[in-house]
Amino acid sequence: MATSTNINILGLSLTSPLIIAGPCSAETEEQVLSTAKQIASLKKASIFRAGIWKPRTRPGSFEGVGSAGLEWLKKVKAETGLLTAVEVANVKHVSEALKSGVDVLWIGARTTVNPFSMQEIADSLQGVNIPVMVKNPINADLDLWIGALERLQKAGIAHLAAVHRGFSSYGKSQYRNKPMWEIPIELKRRMPDIPMICDPSHICGKTELLLNVSQTAMDLDYQGLMIETHFNPASALSDAKQQVTPAELGQLLKEIVIRTSSTKDKKFLSTLEDLRDKIDEIDNNLITILANRMEMARAIGACKKQNGVTILQNSRWNEIVQGRAKQGMEKQLTSGFMIKLFEIIHQESIHHQKQIMQGENIQEKEK
Ligand code: PEP
Ligand code: MN
Repeated sequence: MATSTNINILGLSLTSPLIIAGPCSAETEEQVLSTAKQIASLKKASIFRAGIWKPRTRPGSFEGVGSAGLEWLKKVKAETGLLTAVEVANVKHVSEALKSGVDVLWIGARTTVNPFSMQEIADSLQGVNIPVMVKNPINADLDLWIGALERLQKAGIAHLAAVHRGFSSYGKSQYRNKPMWEIPIELKRRMPDIPMICDPSHICGKTELLLNVSQTAMDLDYQGLMIETHFNPASALSDAKQQVTPAELGQLLKEIVIRTSSTKDKKFLSTLEDLRDKIDEIDNNLITILANRMEMARAIGACKKQNGVTILQNSRWNEIVQGRAKQGMEKQLTSGFMIKLFEIIHQESIHHQKQIMQGENIQEKEK
């Protein structure tokens, strides 16, 4: 990873990409200071993170060292020059963090999810000049994430960033929290001025996947990474499996390839323009093909109506999903994509058939 340029982020001019590193939780003064010194010696990170108040799923687990840890963070700043960041989940946390001179606050996933908590925190930050990072809510609800950012914006917080830490889901997955990249991409489209930082640690839940997720984030033009780093992960009191040592962090950052989001190279630009023209044409054809397919669905609807047959015929539907997934895989398309695609195509077809059977005009209905 070549880290020579600077970016303006969180109201600060910092090395690009922004690297935030530090333990899941502050545990002891020695753990905090030793981890911070080793991170600082890599000369890649700008911000040291540590959870002081820890939101734990079940009572009785380690719930953080509390305000005592803020004194350790002061020492980190004085001895390493790293800026410091802590998670705040209520008004008391905000006031103690501000009193002790923490540089950046972050809102955790379990707080973003709650508009009451978010409003109280935003109210307590009215008139305060401090950067705030907002993690995505636990569940895949983009509006809650946007709402949390808007509450802080309304309170006058000028320097915000969004932290993508993945979304909780039921059932098996290789991730602790599924990345669902389409959600942060849509956030970026709707709030283009909010920088995006990826937290691969909470997405992955284990260290083996960190490189892959971090690389994806960089390729999607994220401005930074927040990576949980502990001087001895095996002994960590929270999130032991997903933390790396400072040396492993250094190695990980070396392996990530940073590509630029634009270039002035004429040949590259004209090739890109050519390829984009082709994509536009293909999309045009796709839309025409989809419209033709829906016309067929309406014709089927009319035919079923005449013959008193129901719209949904499960056997036909199963045949379509399985058959199309197989056909797609033969052409290098993933079966997950094919299934999702045909599910929405099928939904739209049913919608068209229903309109025909009920004798309604589709355009009218949508107005
Ligand atoms: C954390 O950063 O340690 C943390 C608790 O994260 P999240 O809010 O993303 O679960
Ligand atoms: Mn953690």
